[in-house]
Amino acid sequence: MSVDGERHGEAAMLAVAAGLGAVATGVLVLALGGAGRIANTPVDVPWLWLVVAFGACEAFGLRVERRQGEQYGFTAALVPLAAGLVYTEPGALVAARLLGVAVVLLVVRQRRPAEAAYELSIHLAQTVAAVVVVRAVLGDSDPVGLHGGVSVGLALAASYAVSSVALAVLIATVSRGLPGWRMVGALARTDLPSGGLNAAIGIALALALWNQDRVAVQLLLVAIVLACIASNRVYSRLYERRRGLEALRDFITTVVRSADMAEIASSVLGAARSFVRADDAVLLIDTVTDGDPGRRYAVGPDGIEEQRTSLVEHRADIARLVPDGVPCRVAVGADAPAWLRARTSVDALAAPITAANGSVLGALVVTHARRKAASHFGDNHARLLGELAEQASLAIENGLLFMVLEHEAAERAHEALHDPLTGLPNRARITEVIEESLQPRLSGFGRVGLIVVDLDSFNQVVDAFGHSSADGLLVQVSGRMRHLLPESAALGRLGGDQFVVVMPNVADTGEVVAAARLLMAGFDPPFQSEGVLLALPVNIGLAVYPDHAVDGQSLMQRSLIAADAARRHHSGWEVYDPMNDPATPRRLALGADLREAIESDDLDVCFQPKVELASGVVRGAEALVRWTHPRLGRVRPDEFITIAEHTGDIRSLTMVVMRKALDQCRSWRDLGIDLSVAVNLSARNLLDLHLVDDVDQALRDSGVPFEALTLELTESMVMSESQRSLDVLSGLAKLGVRLSCDDFGTGYSSLAHLRRLPIGEIKIDQSFIVSMTVDDSDRAIARSVLALGRDLGLTTVAEGVESREAWDLLTSLGCGLAQGYIVCPPLTPRQFREWLDRREPHELATIPEVDEGPATHDDPSRTRGV
Ligand code: C2E
Ligand code: CA
Ligand code: CA
Repeated sequence: MSVDGERHGEAAMLAVAAGLGAVATGVLVLALGGAGRIANTPVDVPWLWLVVAFGACEAFGLRVERRQGEQYGFTAALVPLAAGLVYTEPGALVAARLLGVAVVLLVVRQRRPAEAAYELSIHLAQTVAAVVVVRAVLGDSDPVGLHGGVSVGLALAASYAVSSVALAVLIATVSRGLPGWRMVGALARTDLPSGGLNAAIGIALALALWNQDRVAVQLLLVAIVLACIASNRVYSRLYERRRGLEALRDFITTVVRSADMAEIASSVLGAARSFVRADDAVLLIDTVTDGDPGRRYAVGPDGIEEQRTSLVEHRADIARLVPDGVPCRVAVGADAPAWLRARTSVDALAAPITAANGSVLGALVVTHARRKAASHFGDNHARLLGELAEQASLAIENGLLFMVLEHEAAERAHEALHDPLTGLPNRARITEVIEESLQPRLSGFGRVGLIVVDLDSFNQVVDAFGHSSADGLLVQVSGRMRHLLPESAALGRLGGDQFVVVMPNVADTGEVVAAARLLMAGFDPPFQSEGVLLALPVNIGLAVYPDHAVDGQSLMQRSLIAADAARRHHSGWEVYDPMNDPATPRRLALGADLREAIESDDLDVCFQPKVELASGVVRGAEALVRWTHPRLGRVRPDEFITIAEHTGDIRSLTMVVMRKALDQCRSWRDLGIDLSVAVNLSARNLLDLHLVDDVDQALRDSGVPFEALTLELTESMVMSESQRSLDVLSGLAKLGVRLSCDDFGTGYSSLAHLRRLPIGEIKIDQSFIVSMTVDDSDRAIARSVLALGRDLGLTTVAEGVESREAWDLLTSLGCGLAQGYIVCPPLTPRQFREWLDRREPHELATIPEVDEGPATHDDPSRTRGV
């Protein structure tokens, strides 16, 4: 009962006690005040005798316990009452009874004051009622004989009625208005026979005393004692049985409503304890699914406790507890399971939990606390426990079934969210993880890093090694990655050869970059497949919330874009850069405008000379595309070229530039200026099988000699292992045009590798040129690259030469050509002509004059060259 309920019960008891006590005391004082004992009684029953008798009846009488701790007494008190009615003054009788009962209640039973007050008020009211009735009925008659017997009998009936009414009132009060009459009726049915017997004995005793028949008195006293004991026994059994049935009914109604094992176990254990009045109960249940442990439920300080045990041990325990599959007592010896020995040192009772098919599913065990020396369990208890276990079995079997279903549902859910091959969270789950990590949190940095790891050319691995080996490699890859990542990072597989890492709560982009670098390095050692060592290059892209994206979906998209950029740039890893993103709103708008610009011939081409370092003679010029957007102004070529690659307009863009460049070259040559022209190609151009024909046609149309055209390809394009790119490259080489390796030094290519390709020129990247003037080791590298290039018969070009210092250094290192602001910036065709006319062969620009206005871009920090 809850604390509230308990308080409510106590208040009700006190209220009933006060009411009853007041009425009874009023009647006693007003109606019976000063009344003596019934006239000319022959015996004087000593007052103390009555006190002891009432006390003894209270002490040894039957205690009936209703659920939740409410107790009601049924005693042989009618016997001393009958004697007292006849032989004692009402006041003394009341006092004797209250004293005897009070001593037992307060001293022996240690009742709470409210309970004691309630019970005493009932004793008081019963006694007063009996006295009133006996005196009213008897009048002046002789108490001996029929009249006397009837009066005492009626008095005892009235006394019983008083206690019943008090009980009904109490129950009604406690249950807030529910009538307690059913309970009273139920008690009356079992109480009346014994009440009648008590009354008869009481009357007989009174008569025997009256007649001073000592033998009869002694016999009656013996009979009283025996009757007390017998009725007590019958009552206990009857009552316990009824209490058991009530508990069983309650238990069944709660248990069938639940499919949750812990809840079922809690009901079963609670019912078991109250059924057989055990101190402790334990429920053992066998497993449901393969690989599951056995379960042992017990009531702990914080509610139901579930312990999982090895199945072998568990089944041995069950077999030991209920060896024959029937309820039985269990001797708790040294060989008993430890958990059982910890609970009791005496015996325990166990009953089997059986499935509908008769197999034993588990066991229900009840014990008494260790400190109790002797067993309290009898056959009666074993039967009760068996009954309970039988009822519980159905619910437990259902519960187990539910667990199986739950388990299967969980497995389904796991399958739906995990990649079957690697066991890693799949795209669906990782999407959830990302969303979860984006939830606002109270502490921490609130940044979330996302890394996409894309295995480069994994399809070729699949082609070469077959699917099962490729699967094995993917498992190895996932294992290695998990090992490299911090504990807090979540690793998932997006499908195919793509993995993803979610890093919740990172401090900054640097932390994510560090993790990406670690992963990158982790892929250095080769993997092993069927005895073959295999290098698996990766492209890693990363994006950080909220720096690069403000929702999970775009965070993922942008990491993928970064990985794609890493693949295109052969850079290994890249942080998301809107430059590489075809899907920003600006980019989408630019895409449409760019197509229009190409179609309406709004693109311009600038030229930047390539000058021979040794002689200062202009040998050629690089054509660089320019686009001035009608609203946005100058757009950087890197930006709109990326867009053209994505929109598929790169072919027409390249050919527009090519035709303009060749036209210029034609016009220079017409003026007798013998210059070559260089045009940049994009990676996409190399996948275009029409390129060779397009170039061929443009050259024919322009009339420029084939060898006067140089096509610049970035280092990563040159290093591409795609067969199609190689085919296009050799097709171009066969035409007789020159191929130049642009941005040399930014990738991984080696000169030795270059030699196998039809490359005639290398352009050393401007970042290299800058660092060369300040860093000794870079200078050493530049020196050997230039020397090797020369030895291989390649033209060496330094790009981005901005300073006199770099110019001189390159000259001393034997570099062939130079391009950069030190000579002049990219110029319009007209400016270029004027520049050519004006220029003295060895003249260098002292202050790099840049004619081009600033280009517009989302990210000004990336704007270079201005
Ligand atoms: P790139 O091929 O490496 O071109 C050289 C870039 O360096 C040009 O930038 C040029 O203006 C700049 N530059 C020249 N001298 C110096 C210098 O002394 N210092 C510095 N800091 N920069 C210098 P631009 O014109 O903005 O072009 C950027 C990139 O766009 C080019 O890099 C090239 O990859 C691409 N691009 C330009 N035009 C075309 C084209 O017609 N087709 C293709 N596919 N790509 C093009
Ligand atoms: Ca170039
Ligand atoms: Ca370049």
